[in-house]
Amino acid sequence: MRIVRRVPDLRSELDAARPRGRVGFVPTLGALHAGHVSLFRLARADCATVVASIFVNPKQFDDSRDFEAYPRQESADCKMAQAAGVDVLFIPGAGEMYPAGHATGVQIAGAALGFEGSRRPGHFAGVVTVCLTLFHMVRPDEAYFGQKDAQQLAVIRQLVRDFSLDLDVKAGPTVREADGVALSSRNVRLSPDERARAPAIPRALRAAVAAHRAGRDPVEAARAGLSGLEIDYVDVADFGGDRTLVVAVRLGPVRLIDNVPLDAPARAGL
Ligand code: AMP
Repeated sequence: MRIVRRVPDLRSELDAARPRGRVGFVPTLGALHAGHVSLFRLARADCATVVASIFVNPKQFDDSRDFEAYPRQESADCKMAQAAGVDVLFIPGAGEMYPAGHATGVQIAGAALGFEGSRRPGHFAGVVTVCLTLFHMVRPDEAYFGQKDAQQLAVIRQLVRDFSLDLDVKAGPTVREADGVALSSRNVRLSPDERARAPAIPRALRAAVAAHRAGRDPVEAARAGLSGLEIDYVDVADFGGDRTLVVAVRLGPVRLIDNVPLDAPARAGL
């Protein structure tokens, strides 16, 4: 695996790799876990060359404390990416992504409205700006995103459609711990007590699917399952025709999101 930090080095690695076949790309914020690894493996199965990036993008953090507290573990990440078959790991510094005088961003409405978009002002503008920049740097044939961040997946699909980007977006199912809690880089910030309460989230998602199948209200079922947790929202979103039960809760200092497409729970690992 090659580790590159500069765009010219990335371009020369990929110029050499492109004739060998498709280039798959997995953008991440790092603090890698089995959820990220599942996307690396999907890309590995489809593509001749697998590129991953690690960049804690300040533009997508609406809360500077969340940005500062975000876990950073570069050497462990490098080992994990290498073991999962990544060929090129791009780890740009902030100056590489946003050189002095950087003043251009992307605005987005549509899929970015509501839910995370209204709770975290500027978040999706930061996500699409960094993803569009990374897509231009990497020029992938396929880009891989997790169902775990269902609204982000819908936003990226919209970006690709609206700007007619020449790449396919592929989604990977949510990877969960044995007790059903979705893997997230933020889970390490939960206290033991908070972590012990987190399985209420996947239980609530399962209850929502069961209610939906029985013709009852999935939101009510999920809300009942989350009683005792500080709920930010529980709702049904329509992501490109996929009715998806979306949940955001606060556990101590951490805000966790999870979701399940009501007619395709397997995509959420449920
Ligand atoms: P992040 O580093 O949190 O920005 O995540 C990078 C990519 O990994 C995004 O496409 C996420 O949706 C995806 N991802 C994060 N957690 C999981 C998970 N538990 N299962 C599957 N994919 C995930």
